[in-house]
Amino acid sequence: MSNPTYKIAILSGDGIGPEVMAATLPILNKAGEKFGFKTSITEALVGGCAIDATGSALPDATVNTCKQADAILFGSVGGPKWESLPPTQQPERAALLPLRKIFGLYANLRPAICHKDLIHASPIKNSLIPDGFDVLCMRELTGGIYFGEKKTVAVAHGERSIDTMVYETSEIERITHLAFKAAATRRKKVTLVDKANVLETSVLWRKTVKAIAPQYPDIKLDFIYVDNAAMQVLKNPNQFDVLLCENMFGDILSDELAALTGSLGLLPSASLAEGTFGLYEPSGGTAPDIAGKGIANPIAQILSAALMLRYSFAQEKAALAIENAVRRALAEGYRTGDIYTEGTKKVGTTEMGNAILSFL
Ligand code: NAD
Repeated sequence: MSNPTYKIAILSGDGIGPEVMAATLPILNKAGEKFGFKTSITEALVGGCAIDATGSALPDATVNTCKQADAILFGSVGGPKWESLPPTQQPERAALLPLRKIFGLYANLRPAICHKDLIHASPIKNSLIPDGFDVLCMRELTGGIYFGEKKTVAVAHGERSIDTMVYETSEIERITHLAFKAAATRRKKVTLVDKANVLETSVLWRKTVKAIAPQYPDIKLDFIYVDNAAMQVLKNPNQFDVLLCENMFGDILSDELAALTGSLGLLPSASLAEGTFGLYEPSGGTAPDIAGKGIANPIAQILSAALMLRYSFAQEKAALAIENAVRRALAEGYRTGDIYTEGTKKVGTTEMGNAILSFL
């Protein structure tokens, strides 16, 4: 059988986006050579640079490029230049939200990994995480309280505002299967984060997840209330493997976990649709304070490409090889400014990319 070719839409965006993307593409290429696949890449404008060029943060041409692709590798968008635009035209809102909607990206995966060599950067006491930690936060992205009916009405002494949290069985089922499948490639445990003591939607989440669990007999399932989860990730993140969360709980917990790893420059994310399509991007933003200086950490973008290989193209070995090359570069002491400590090798974006490439 001939080698598969994967069509990838490259949306680098603004700020450090193009810099970290440039360090990532040679790594994707080399992974293809090593593991027997090809990538066909089409670049398209998104975010502030797209507003400057076309007046729209998500031009039709970009949407078309994405529609023809098997996956989107995204940088990040936004920056001070566009902050005075009305909220609905801000690059993040006008580009990412429509992309989520157009492509039905219903599951957001944020692996929070604190490497053994970087535990000093974590705000958690190092004695609690001697080997670092690795937790996958899986957040439902298109339902729940952010999308339920909302309104504000006048009442006698002010106003009353209502947000509605809504979930249907089918929305819970599809992400639950993803969570169990992800756990199967990891430490084989899923923890459902909910508030089943007070929320009807949480009761439905528990019931639905429990009903699916017997299909995955090798995976351990347990439950935790969200308030306790917020505390437990601080005390002992290693007790968790996959945290399955409805939209708002996942929004909050994934940021808490990101902060616990020490640097935004290390964290990838995946937003998945039904089937194999996905959008992959670093968890951080465009880092305007360091953009254009060649010092941004490319690891989050490189690990996002690894997630793309894993979840959209089922190239698990290639994904693991990239993740191991990143681990090796860190173990060998390569550090961009955001994770630098005395005694390690301070490098820029390109050098970090080249080091990872050489260990692949
Ligand atoms: P940010 O993530 O861009 O920066 C926060 C801090 O983290 C900065 O000090 C930055 O230098 C550092 N940082 C982030 N990524 C880094 C990397 N790869 N290497 C080294 N350091 C890194 O968040 P912000 O300052 O709140 O936002 C800046 C802009 O990015 C805003 O316009 C915001 O709207 C946008 N943003 C976009 C996305 C996205 O595209 N998904 C996400 C978040 C923020």
